[in-house]
Amino acid sequence: MTRGKVIKVILLLLMVVILVSCGKDISEGNIDQNRTAGSHAGKTSDSREPKESIEITKEISITAIGDMLIHNSVYNDAKVKQGYDFKPMLKRVEPFLSDATISIANQETMIGGVELGLSSYPTFNSPTEVGDALKWAGVDVVSLANNHTLDRGEEAIQRAITHWETIDMMYTGAYKNSQDRDRVRVYETEEGISVAFLSYTYGTNGIPVPVGRDYLVNLIDQELIAREIKDAKEKADVVVLSLHFGNEYERMPNQIQKDLVQFVADQGADVVVGHHPHVLQPIDWVTSAEGSRTLVVYSLGNFLSGQDEFYRQIGGIFKFYISKTTKGGEQEVKVHSPEFLPTYVKYSNWQDYEVIPMYQLTDQDLPNASKHYEEIKEHMSIWVPDLKFIEE
Ligand SMILES: [Zn+2]
Repeated sequence: MTRGKVIKVILLLLMVVILVSCGKDISEGNIDQNRTAGSHAGKTSDSREPKESIEITKEISITAIGDMLIHNSVYNDAKVKQGYDFKPMLKRVEPFLSDATISIANQETMIGGVELGLSSYPTFNSPTEVGDALKWAGVDVVSLANNHTLDRGEEAIQRAITHWETIDMMYTGAYKNSQDRDRVRVYETEEGISVAFLSYTYGTNGIPVPVGRDYLVNLIDQELIAREIKDAKEKADVVVLSLHFGNEYERMPNQIQKDLVQFVADQGADVVVGHHPHVLQPIDWVTSAEGSRTLVVYSLGNFLSGQDEFYRQIGGIFKFYISKTTKGGEQEVKVHSPEFLPTYVKYSNWQDYEVIPMYQLTDQDLPNASKHYEEIKEHMSIWVPDLKFIEE
């Protein structure tokens, strides 16, 4: 045994002693569960404390952001000598995304790249560098099912997926073929907590889904959703569902959104991340038919876009935690402690785009910044009064 190993074993034994003597919960992401349990069994076979009493809690955090809606003003502003660079636009939010165990973004526009010809509203195609900037900012998963998925046809989707694969980004909601679609996306974390990501959209702006190629975009279809949630629950500890739904520019969810969220909650979805309205809609806890709670944010607004009305320049980082407690052979997984960081897309004359945490805004950035910030906080927490806002 090397000196390092001896120290490790001593440390492990010390932790076991602390565990046994305290007999209470711990939250230690770094402890190797099996080795700890194994050491404990070896050391305390004659102890009065049964080994089932050991509780180990691991925890991860997830952040989600809304629409990456790349208008021409945004990609023109990102132009550099060689290609495009969107990283400066995300610089001030990067620390918050990198900090989470897993981050998911709604990539509203396909990143088919310049070879296909870039385009803006109403049929978007964006530079692949949008993906590079998300990766750099700490995003791990992109949701691709939305009303713009088919804007530039199958070629844009296939080119985009090729790029997502090149940069090792998990994507969900649009797929390269049916085998790809059938592979449920499960993110395995080092902490031993697995999270499945599903994604669906209400429609595709009237562009028909090519016959026999429904893998190109996941539509909201209750039968499909129920089946995929069931499958995902067998493969992961937690199921996070992205839903592209609601009416554009409405600040409160409509009945169709509420009914669908109730439906997916009843099917066992743990978290719902909504988008499409381009403005923020509040966070809530929804109780399923079985009595469990599903965390929902009805709409995350625009995270980065060229849209130009105040509420359409507001988005945010939605954060929550997942803990997994193992005691004896039993496991309990909990989604808890939602948090929110409102953000603002600042620019002038369609240039110098930058996503800024609202709490950092000055009156130069936005007149009456703190008044606006307070109003957004009130709006997002209307149904969750103890919602925590990230301010550091
Ligand atoms: Zn949309």
